[in-house]
Amino acid sequence: MSSVKQIGSSDVLIDTHQLEVLCERLLHQQPQSQPLLKRLLAGSHRAFAPVHDGRCSACNVTIATARIQQAKAGEFINCANCIVFLYYDPL
Ligand SMILES: [Zn+2]
Repeated sequence: MSSVKQIGSSDVLIDTHQLEVLCERLLHQQPQSQPLLKRLLAGSHRAFAPVHDGRCSACNVTIATARIQQAKAGEFINCANCIVFLYYDPL
C-alpha cells in the first residue's frame, strides 16, 4: 500500500505525464531538438520549465520579449542561460 516511491520530490518538478506530453509536443514541433532533449533528460538538469512572469522559472533569468511572444504563440524556446526548453503556461 505504502510502496509508492517519491521520485525527486523537490518543489516544482513536472509530473511524468506532463513531461511526456511536453516531449511529444516539442518533438512534433522541433524534431531537430531531439538530441538536446535527450541530453537534458539524461542529466540531472530539468528539461522543461514554464515561463514565469517573463523569466525562466528554472534559473530566473529574464527572457527577451520577442522570445516570450514566440512562447506565447505555442513555440518552445530555449533559455539563453540554462538551455531548458521553455513554454508559456497560461495558468
Ligand atoms: Zn533558464
